[in-house]
Amino acid sequence: MSHTASFHFHGSLNDFLRAPRRDTSFDYTFAGSPAVKDTIEAIGVPHLEIREVRANGNSVSLSYKLQDKDEVQVYPFDGKEEELAAGIAAYRFVLDVHLGTLARSLRLLGFDTVYHNNLTDAEISGIAEEERRIVLTRDVNLLKHKAIPAGYWLRSQHTEEQLAEVVKRFRLLKQLKPFSRCLVCNGEILEVPKVDVLEQLPPKTRLYFDEFFQCSTCRRVYWKGSHYERMQALVSRLEQDLK
Ligand SMILES: [Zn+2]
Repeated sequence: MSHTASFHFHGSLNDFLRAPRRDTSFDYTFAGSPAVKDTIEAIGVPHLEIREVRANGNSVSLSYKLQDKDEVQVYPFDGKEEELAAGIAAYRFVLDVHLGTLARSLRLLGFDTVYHNNLTDAEISGIAEEERRIVLTRDVNLLKHKAIPAGYWLRSQHTEEQLAEVVKRFRLLKQLKPFSRCLVCNGEILEVPKVDVLEQLPPKTRLYFDEFFQCSTCRRVYWKGSHYERMQALVSRLEQDLK
């Protein structure tokens, strides 16, 4: 026997809905008594973006069994939340494939970011679960994996906008630690005496720079050249945008 409940999605959750369903109540027909989480995901909204579900005015868990004639309101994380989903202690990420440029940008800002261009969905979900990392992806279906502790669907296809979305969603502006992580391998970079890296430096760099940093994992050497200036410009744009 089929039943009907009404759903109303708020704020950024509307990004997952077709136009007629946005910012309004709509009826949804279902059979039996499914968990509200499954129904919400069938409608197209991944549960990891949800802060609260209310049924008939009362806050309910995601395992709440949907009843005939329920009136359901669904609210997003809206950037005002201080805490993350269960088990996430720090802002560490694992990125879906094809997000290599975003991975470098996050590392540039100092965030521990796992990225390989050949990971399967199952591997990404496994890394997120084991290492308690936040999944960033353009694929809504990836966020439906049950093992993933926290995640975010990137709305934009452009790296700098994606970076701004992530910084805003997880309130990272105060946590930027530029120049602390290797762009290539995600290792930590530490200051080193010039004499230790002299042989690896191009002649002009040897001449004009005195401060050097080295990746503790792959030994790549960094200095505050043009790449550093680009990063400072990026940080000030983020600060402007998210003020
Ligand atoms: Zn490295």
